[in-house]
Amino acid sequence: MGPAQLLRGEVVTRAGRDATPFVTLDRSRCEACWECIDVCPEAVLGKIDVWFHRHAVVRDGDRCRGCRRCIKVCAAGALSDRDSDRQPTAVGS
Ligand code: SF4
Ligand code: SF4
Repeated sequence: MGPAQLLRGEVVTRAGRDATPFVTLDRSRCEACWECIDVCPEAVLGKIDVWFHRHAVVRDGDRCRGCRRCIKVCAAGALSDRDSDRQPTAVGS
């Protein structure tokens, strides 16, 4: 997949890539440090990394367990709790 395809795909699927059932991502605040990706035990988060266009995305939100590790590690404040009735589940269960 080339850069142009990545950009087009990112725009088309934007609505589904900014939140999991537990976490909201404000991509405008993301500083592309990739700490959240490293710390997530469920591989929920991914990257858009094309030239000047760099930020985290929600790659597979259904896998999110609500552990909040990504929120704690994000110094930029780009990740936050989402209002949700769902209860977090243990990682690995
Ligand atoms: S930890 Fe925060 S600033 Fe770093 S890549 Fe994740 S969302 Fe962006
Ligand atoms: S809450 Fe936990 S499982 Fe969900 S995206 Fe953040 S680190 Fe990953």
